[in-house]
Amino acid sequence: MITPGEAWAIILKQVRPLKAVRVPLADALGYCLAEEVRADRDLPPADRASMDGYAVQHEDLQETPCTLRVIGEVAAGSASRRRVESGTCVRILTGANVPPGADAVVMVEDTQENGGLVTIHSPASRGANIHPRGEDARKETSLLPRGARIDAMRAGVCAAVGKASLKVHARPEVAILCTGSELRAVADRVRPHEIRNSNGPALSAALAQWGFGASGYRSVADEPGVLVAALSRALARHEVVLFTGGVSVGKYDYVREAVEATGAKVQFHRLRMRPGRPTLYATAAHNRHVFGLPGNPLSSLTAFHEFVLPALRRLAGCPAEECRTAWMLPLAESVEAEGGFVRCALARVVMGEHGLAAAPVPFRSSADLVSAGHADGVVLLPPERTRFAAGESVAFRPWRPLP
Ligand code: AMP
Ligand code: MG
Repeated sequence: MITPGEAWAIILKQVRPLKAVRVPLADALGYCLAEEVRADRDLPPADRASMDGYAVQHEDLQETPCTLRVIGEVAAGSASRRRVESGTCVRILTGANVPPGADAVVMVEDTQENGGLVTIHSPASRGANIHPRGEDARKETSLLPRGARIDAMRAGVCAAVGKASLKVHARPEVAILCTGSELRAVADRVRPHEIRNSNGPALSAALAQWGFGASGYRSVADEPGVLVAALSRALARHEVVLFTGGVSVGKYDYVREAVEATGAKVQFHRLRMRPGRPTLYATAAHNRHVFGLPGNPLSSLTAFHEFVLPALRRLAGCPAEECRTAWMLPLAESVEAEGGFVRCALARVVMGEHGLAAAPVPFRSSADLVSAGHADGVVLLPPERTRFAAGESVAFRPWRPLP
């Protein structure tokens, strides 16, 4: 049986970023760039005042206080090019271009204006309070690399350089097929031998939560023919199909059989990891991918965050090394594991004495969805050991975007 790390390496070899599409900047949030964004001109485009005050020749201020004649005003947005000569100055407002001849801006707080004259109380060095042309970036400099995911800051960068639309990678469409004849819809009446389908809503929310849009889910009966038909239909319109349940070795676990019947190639099945041991991954033609997630609620969420989310990010154009991120956090308390496989143990992020730490959240089994409601993700406890001390650094995989 392979480790989760080896499983990810297999997936990474198979997933290729989707084709580039053009989207308006206003719709680009969450997409990964399929082009580099460069400065279309120097930033800032001219020497600009970073304070309200007076544009002066700094040599006029060698002895202060001194008095200069105010010959005009330039506010932000003004195209005025009134020249500052020795003995004169121009009133200037934050964001306005520094007029020709001036080489410093004196803060208004250090001055007193009276009848066309201004008294300046303290000297200024050359360049004072001027944000010089090109200081932030020269024209043609690369500002954002391919693969960068558009967020608030990056949307601002794109706007500043005139990118009204962006070339981004398309985001994958995902189908969720929940197997299990015991499943009932959330709103249905349930009898004692039935359970509500929680994986469908949980995975659908997980997709939306990580920026992949809400996707519907379908319940499918544990019958090979039904699974084959549902999978074929789903693969026609989605890059990724998620099965939940039916992937173990029970009598009614038909997912593997159905996957193979459609011609998809099983790349791995069963991992040295818990929860999530029976996880299956298969590839179909045209960069399509099938995941068989185990039915237990914690197992399906574990496999989702270990493999599905990273694969979706890669399809969406995220650089390979940024798709499957974990944080190293110290354990807030000691924790024990069985050893022999990677234990994914529910944990909360807490503010410890020395910063953030991962506090284990006790859980009873991989069916214990209730405990997951109190967790922020899982710590990944390696297979080689059974005891992990408080303060020891472990990998933490977030299951929710943390504030
Ligand atoms: P399976 O992998 O199909 O054997 O399912 C393992 C366990 O997970 C069984 O107890 C199922 O009833 C439960 N289970 C399977 N699918 C779901 C689901 N969509 N929502 C909640 N529990 C599920
Ligand atoms: Mg089942």
